Amino acid sequence: MKLILLGAPGVGKGTQAQYIVEKYGIPQISTGDMLREAVREGSELGKRVKEVMDSGALVTDEIILDLVKERIQKDDCANGFLFDGFPRTIPQAQALIDQGIDIDCVIEINVPDNEIVARLSGRRVHPDSGRVYHVTNNPPEIEGKDDVTGEDLIQRDDDKEETIAERLSVYREQTEPLVAFYKDLSKKQGSQLSYHTIDGLGDTDDIKTVIFDIVGSLSSTL
Ligand code: ADP
Ligand code: ADP
Repeated sequence: MKLILLGAPGVGKGTQAQYIVEKYGIPQISTGDMLREAVREGSELGKRVKEVMDSGALVTDEIILDLVKERIQKDDCANGFLFDGFPRTIPQAQALIDQGIDIDCVIEINVPDNEIVARLSGRRVHPDSGRVYHVTNNPPEIEGKDDVTGEDLIQRDDDKEETIAERLSVYREQTEPLVAFYKDLSKKQGSQLSYHTIDGLGDTDDIKTVIFDIVGSLSSTL
């Protein structure tokens, strides 16, 4: 089962990805998490991408495709995977097709911009695990601390208010064209791809149920 969660920053892709991983046992492939790990490690790659990420712009397709190609070779991807935050440009999506990687399902999550700003500016993360919280919507048990390890939570540099507007405009220009791209692909004869649009406003558990219904109907046919 090969799935894509598509949507602007802050619509809840990472939050919902964690539920899908638990239930369906496929790995989450978040290019954002992979890049942040490289930055934390201080690797060559990390040094190359830090500034771009902090500015809210996208990292080059070449860097991203190298990362993804290597990641999907790993054993845990044998039964499929969940892409979260990838692909983000038409060339990235086209590269999947060129490599014969057939996606089964794209779930597009929609949330209005004002809610996205509120979600991103209140987001706090546990860097090591990628666990995601929100200061009011999903607070940790102890303020500023991860529920599992008790370690400090941080605010991502690109979740500062001045960068959020830039990220939303990058999404509109470079990533939103993927909506039409995948809708068209799903309508092509012989295509195995199903395309779903869901409302990302509301309780995370209710959204999870909607997503599980979609994924459940797929897994019975795959
Ligand atoms: P994305 O991966 O799409 O950038 P996240 O899953 O990190 O989004 O969610 C962004 C922020 O919004 C986080 O702080 C998260 O706790 C919060 N959040 C996620 N889903 C919801 C929801 N349904 N309602 C309110 N807040 C949410
Ligand atoms: P969010 O879901 O909150 O938008 P991500 O964690 O997916 O954030 O991405 C953070 C940053 O990492 C992006 O703003 C961009 O600089 C870089 N990035 C992540 N994935 C990609 C990708 N597929 N293509 C290009 N840049 C990416």
